[in-house]
Amino acid sequence: MRICDNCHAVFSDLELPVESTHAFQTPVCPRCLSRKSHLPFPDDICLLAVLNGVNASIAEDLLSQAEIPYKTRSDFASITGQFGASVRFFTTYDQLSAANECLHEVFDQLL
Ligand SMILES: [Zn+2]
Repeated sequence: MRICDNCHAVFSDLELPVESTHAFQTPVCPRCLSRKSHLPFPDDICLLAVLNGVNASIAEDLLSQAEIPYKTRSDFASITGQFGASVRFFTTYDQLSAANECLHEVFDQLL
């Protein structure tokens, strides 16, 4: 696994876009296409999910109940073209699988 230095998305080296799978090429983040990424440490900040409106508040409740530490950052609508803010959820790498499990019970598609 690798963590993108730009958007903090976690991605597998095995799921890289076709153009980046050549042996000596730099891994490319599938989310933002940044070529800067690093191997994860347990306390690295990772992008967990991007949700908006009601879904974001549901996710906050779920994570709080599960006692999973997280941070949020709101992005305003100019990026998504929708009304309201989308909220990016971040957690640490060592909490990522627990957080994913917690949210996947309610949300099928997180990013
Ligand atoms: Zn990225």
